[in-house]
Amino acid sequence: MVSVIQLDKLSKIYGTGEQAVHAVNDLSLTVETGQIFGFLGANGAGKTTTIRMLLGLIYPSSGEASLFGQSLQDAGQVRQERVGGLVEEATLYPFMTGYNNLKAIAYTSGVTERKRIDEVLDIVGMRSFAKRKAKTYSTGMKQRLGIATALLTDPDLLILDEPTNGLDPQGIQDVRVLLQHLAQNEGKTIFLSSHLLHEIEQTCTHVAIIRNGHLVRQGAINDLLQTNSVTRLTVDDISTAYALLSQNYPTEIVNQSIEVTVIYDNIPDLIQYLVSQNIRIFEVTQKQQSLEDLFFEVTHD
Ligand code: ATP
Repeated sequence: MVSVIQLDKLSKIYGTGEQAVHAVNDLSLTVETGQIFGFLGANGAGKTTTIRMLLGLIYPSSGEASLFGQSLQDAGQVRQERVGGLVEEATLYPFMTGYNNLKAIAYTSGVTERKRIDEVLDIVGMRSFAKRKAKTYSTGMKQRLGIATALLTDPDLLILDEPTNGLDPQGIQDVRVLLQHLAQNEGKTIFLSSHLLHEIEQTCTHVAIIRNGHLVRQGAINDLLQTNSVTRLTVDDISTAYALLSQNYPTEIVNQSIEVTVIYDNIPDLIQYLVSQNIRIFEVTQKQQSLEDLFFEVTHD
């Protein structure tokens, strides 16, 4: 099956000579149909630059990339028909109503069916505010209307740069519910950048973490957080268990328990080993790494 997004050693250098900024470096990643893919990185890591390349707003310096199997330089039509994008904030005409803003964008995007405007207003929960001028909207309303503009062409792929930027907790939750609805009920694939790690952990199925334009981790969120997670054991003879485990695994004694960093699939072997050494185990719990833990582990020296 053709991947929705495929990046293969994509790079972007701004400027030349001593002024050159290597914003994106040999970035390779894959996004498949139906995923909600979180694109993470610190300020200046290269997220917006990557998104701008995907949306055809800037050209890559080198590397290959495709949208629905179509290489980026030939993806004009695919973008128009199958991709909806929102980079940072939605640009709305402040003196026009929300409805008329959508109408103007529908016109320039070749969307002729009026009912599509009502549909997208319903999807983002903005129907009752559609007759108000955009200048009276809160940040959350503007953001929702921005997502509505990205949905006008009924795209298969939504690319959103920090869609929860500037939103309050309620607004953030609304966007999360909306994105999950779009993926689960409307069959959309969603690629979004964000700084809100807790939010990404709750919303996304997959993530990529970049640092200085380089990919440092990519995968299904559950897999990434389960590998190398910490297992906590309560045993009868803590010092013998520690001596046995610390030969093979990073092991610590914390609050009368043993915390051992072990690959999830190896936990049964570890338990069997302790039992074979006559250690009595009372409790085994999993201390799952949070996305925040993983993020700091891979983005700091
Ligand atoms: P943020 O989270 O702060 O939005 P980001 O991950 O989106 O950051 P980018 O905006 O892609 O990062 O920037 C990556 C690097 O490229 C930064 O060092 C930035 O200063 C630089 N950069 C971005 N746009 C330009 C430009 N037009 N000209 C020169 N350098 C740029």
